[in-house]
Amino acid sequence: MSGKVVIPGGHKVPALGIGTWMMGERPEARQAETESVRLGVELGLRLVDTAEMYGEGACERFLGEALAGLRDKVFLVSKVYPHNASRAGVVSACERSLRRLKTDHLDLYLLHWRGSVPLAETIIGFEHLKTQGKIRDWGVSNFDTDDMNELYETPGGDGCATNQVLYNLTRRGPEWDLLPWLQEHEIPLMAYSPIERGRLKSTGVLADIAAKHAARPYQIALAWALRMPGNIVIPKASRPEHMRENAGARDIVLDADDFAALDAAFPPPARKRALEML
Ligand code: NAP
Repeated sequence: MSGKVVIPGGHKVPALGIGTWMMGERPEARQAETESVRLGVELGLRLVDTAEMYGEGACERFLGEALAGLRDKVFLVSKVYPHNASRAGVVSACERSLRRLKTDHLDLYLLHWRGSVPLAETIIGFEHLKTQGKIRDWGVSNFDTDDMNELYETPGGDGCATNQVLYNLTRRGPEWDLLPWLQEHEIPLMAYSPIERGRLKSTGVLADIAAKHAARPYQIALAWALRMPGNIVIPKASRPEHMRENAGARDIVLDADDFAALDAAFPPPARKRALEML
């Protein structure tokens, strides 16, 4: 399913974006990675996710070059380390990210996971960055339902624009209570590692459904993750052929039989499971 997602704050973003973890770290892969990211943007995957953690800045530096001339077409997301997420720390970390990314603002800035800095402090830092025009919106990552509740109890916490979490066919835990919580509060779930870092089994049910749709198995996994309006999905593909294939997932419409077969092979949760992280 193709489409756009409106994040709280009103910005419209593509439902299918680009992950970049591990990009920009291997000189021999750089050309293919550059081609892949630029192809993805050309094909309409105009949300690019990165983090200061990725290669300790190497990924952001890579994107600063790879996105040359394309910055204005892209909704750029980066993340701050929890240990940098104090009121002042978040501002300095963002400024470093902006320099590496060769841009003057981020479209979305996320707290990468919860650390020891009180949420109230991080929110003040984020809001300060917003006022300065250095970020358009802020959000969180790897927050389970109790973390979201705590965030919402914190002054300004309801300004959160997304929660980026591990979600794919083999990691359906969020469907128990986190996804309903996010839907109720109209906050998009941004699904990371949507093909389980390339470890999803591409034989069996995924291959069968792919054959029926004249598609590829991972396209089926992505079409499944994109099935709910409001979800954002960010597969990473260093290779242009993977990027092109992933972009094609937007055109696949799964039917009730497909969903039933996927539920049988990858059952939804029957109880609460703590949110997993990669
Ligand atoms: P992923 O997107 O599930 O999988 C990436 C792997 O799958 C790569 O090895 C890639 O190969 C391969 N691949 C991609 N498309 C393919 C295709 N069509 N056919 C076959 N193989 C394919 O895993 P991920 O990188 O962990 O997650 C995606 C993004 O989410 C990350 O890059 C990052 O931006 C974000 N993330 C965030 C967190 C967090 O804590 N917030 C954690 C993990 C990830 P090639 O690269 O060789 O093409």
